[in-house]
Amino acid sequence: MHFETRAIHAGYNPFDHFGAVNPPVFLSSTFQQSAPGKHQGFEYARSGNPTRQALEGVLASIENGEHACAFSSGLGATDSILKLLNAGDHVIVADDVYGGTFRIMDKTFQRYGIEFTWVDTTNVENVKGAFKANTKMLFLETPSNPLLKISDIEALTNLAKEKKAISVVDNTFASPYLQRPLDLGADIVMHSCTKYLGGHSDVVMGAAVTRNEKLNQQIAFNQNASGAVPGALDCYLVHRGIKTLAVRMEQGCDNAERIVSFLLEHKRVTKVFYPGLKDHVNHNVAARQMKRFGAMISFEIDGSVADGVKVVSDRRVWTLGESLGGVESLLEHPASMTHASIPKAMREKAGLNDGLIRLSVGIESAEDLIEDLRKGLESY
Ligand SMILES: *Cc1c(COP(=O)(O)O)cnc(C)c1O
Repeated sequence: MHFETRAIHAGYNPFDHFGAVNPPVFLSSTFQQSAPGKHQGFEYARSGNPTRQALEGVLASIENGEHACAFSSGLGATDSILKLLNAGDHVIVADDVYGGTFRIMDKTFQRYGIEFTWVDTTNVENVKGAFKANTKMLFLETPSNPLLKISDIEALTNLAKEKKAISVVDNTFASPYLQRPLDLGADIVMHSCTKYLGGHSDVVMGAAVTRNEKLNQQIAFNQNASGAVPGALDCYLVHRGIKTLAVRMEQGCDNAERIVSFLLEHKRVTKVFYPGLKDHVNHNVAARQMKRFGAMISFEIDGSVADGVKVVSDRRVWTLGESLGGVESLLEHPASMTHASIPKAMREKAGLNDGLIRLSVGIESAEDLIEDLRKGLESY
């Protein structure tokens, strides 16, 4: 069956529950046993819950995986994935991974004797050169944040396979509708379901998906041991969000393409970062591994931090905020928001100029979004 069909029907059979079209929300922390140890697959809700099981079924299906674990947040998933490692192991990580991913590696797991090397993974040779005898994991994120850098999933996960390292891809920015890393050779896909999978900015959740039964058992063990489990109602909401993922992504990509064309023509805009542009680094890789180029855009204006603040302030259609992937369009100004704590010189070294603005394009009318952006760009 095709993606759109599986997104709606996988993981749940209505006839298991009186024909109810939607999975019931099981608000039970414990499950009655008919005799000691005799139960119907569920004992205690940290280990599993039928609403969560239905969601995990659809998550595995839409990533073309076989097993999924839903977590209480994306970072909860990353935590259980990193706990596959032992003290003394080494991990190669994309140098522009999500800030929270960097933090849990740098501030938490490094203290437990796991070693990390941050590498520009847009270049395969860089990654090749970073492997060591104790390298046990490669952790990628593509497209990345906020410059939407593209890394070659197939080439890099093949490299990891040769070196017997587990490959992990954070697929949050693309969503499984646009990109399926397991098909390209990744061992594990992780998600912040908070973003496109939930899609309505009303849930924080994460997921880890794999085809490897042993890896899944270990991740599920780590999850049950540490406890980063999602609530049943949240599982229901993300399951519902997934049903419209395909149409939301199509509309978001359509809008993003129109906004990119508008930005390229605007005299105050000096650079546009979008994987669909021919001059974007690794555009060809993106064209190969993604169905479309996504609904995230970054651009630079010819202005100061204060000018950037003006462009993003007082917008009527765009919501000023730091997340992404919801039906509503969000914009943010890294120099004064997400990356304000980084000194200017370091920010610029990472390519984050004072006038950089990041857009998460939602599914409103493209005309309204463009008009509102035009007003912002003319406000300084
Ligand atoms: C938000 C995000 C995360 C973290 O997920 P939470 O659900 O906030 O814990 C990880 N990776 C990426 C790319 C994200 O955008």
